[in-house]
Amino acid sequence: MAKPSFRAPKGTRDILAPESSRQRALIDSFAHRVELAGYGNVASPMFEEVGVFLRIGESTDIVTKEMFTFESKSASEPITWALRPELTASVVRAYVQHRPVPPWKVWYEGPQFRYERPQAGRYRQFTQVGIEVLGVDQPDIDVEVIALAADFYRDIGMQNVSLDLNSLGDPSCRPAYLDALTEYFQDHSAELSEQSQHTLKVNPLRVLDSKREQDQAMIDAAPVMVDFLSAETGEHFAGVRAGLDKLGIKYEISPRLVRGMDYYTRTIFEFVSTALDNAQNAVGGGGRYDALAESLGGPATPGIGFALGVDRILLACDAEGVFPAPESAVKVFVVDVSGAEVALELTHELRNAGIGADQAFGGRSMKAQMKAADRSGAPWALLIGEDELAAEVVTVRDLRGETGQIQVPRADIVPELLKRLI
Ligand code: AMP
Repeated sequence: MAKPSFRAPKGTRDILAPESSRQRALIDSFAHRVELAGYGNVASPMFEEVGVFLRIGESTDIVTKEMFTFESKSASEPITWALRPELTASVVRAYVQHRPVPPWKVWYEGPQFRYERPQAGRYRQFTQVGIEVLGVDQPDIDVEVIALAADFYRDIGMQNVSLDLNSLGDPSCRPAYLDALTEYFQDHSAELSEQSQHTLKVNPLRVLDSKREQDQAMIDAAPVMVDFLSAETGEHFAGVRAGLDKLGIKYEISPRLVRGMDYYTRTIFEFVSTALDNAQNAVGGGGRYDALAESLGGPATPGIGFALGVDRILLACDAEGVFPAPESAVKVFVVDVSGAEVALELTHELRNAGIGADQAFGGRSMKAQMKAADRSGAPWALLIGEDELAAEVVTVRDLRGETGQIQVPRADIVPELLKRLI
């Protein structure tokens, strides 16, 4: 019988060390940044009733093509669930369920699932970090949210990130814009791609999001929302821009930016890495969703947030040569060729003293154990042979070749290493 040969599903990846430690360090850095600003962590389920996500938009790819759905096993209570494709809808569902006192400022991290066509920087399972704020309407919170993302990119060393900003209006002014947009596209519908002609019937705004070559000239000449903003929405948008200016955060007004979800109102934004030259160069984005809480059965509550793509940020860091994987936590590697008399106990003692320590197993040769020591990334090797065993000492060798080697009494090894490692 042929041996089975399983691989990670298409569009998913096994992230191994040290890349996995790098991903964790990135999430830690994000947590630090946003917790300093008063955001508490929310951990919600990886799947929800599919209805939670339908609010993302009946005409969006996320809902129409990309949802991983499955049925409950209960015949009496049939429910369709979906793996979460994003976290905003889940967080707002949690807000509606628990009714925390607004303003509710939360952050999250974790995997999202979309049945996409996999390519570099686009996966079917990917990790996002993000924040959401429920219950604040003022433009200053839009500025705080955008600034936190910009500051985080800077924290990890990214310099080539640009910020696109737009306002999608609100129910007081968007309908007039949609009418104008629909009329414009209908007048030119023969020139639009077949997919965009279909999209036009469901949601004309989404046509602006088409990446198809055939649609680009039409899109470039289309009417833009910022020309239709009501006095109030225009003032809100001006407040956001003024706040960003005050903080010295650079942005471009991008009047055709719509983003992939239908729940957005007013401010929307996207961060693009100019260091990535492929099509997948958006490293994060977000916006306001002032009607989402109500559409999920809650009280009318304004909301704003963003999600940043961790996988893609790390690709951008590679392109910029920043944010390397953290150093190995293993600081010493015990090489015992005395018949493994000492390694087990010594390694245990070192770990309990808070010193990262590892050892080779299986009574391997000095050469093989030294190779393992090099691979571990530890800066120090502790060598124990017959001579050391007899003299009750340990030879400490600097694997970076900076200081050579010394002998330390077995009983003094922990304090001696603590002295050298600090
Ligand atoms: P979205 O939730 O679509 O607004 O996306 C926010 C960020 O998540 C994007 O800017 C990307 O950095 C990242 N992202 C979205 N979809 C994917 C995907 N399929 N694979 C990897 N990263 C993604």
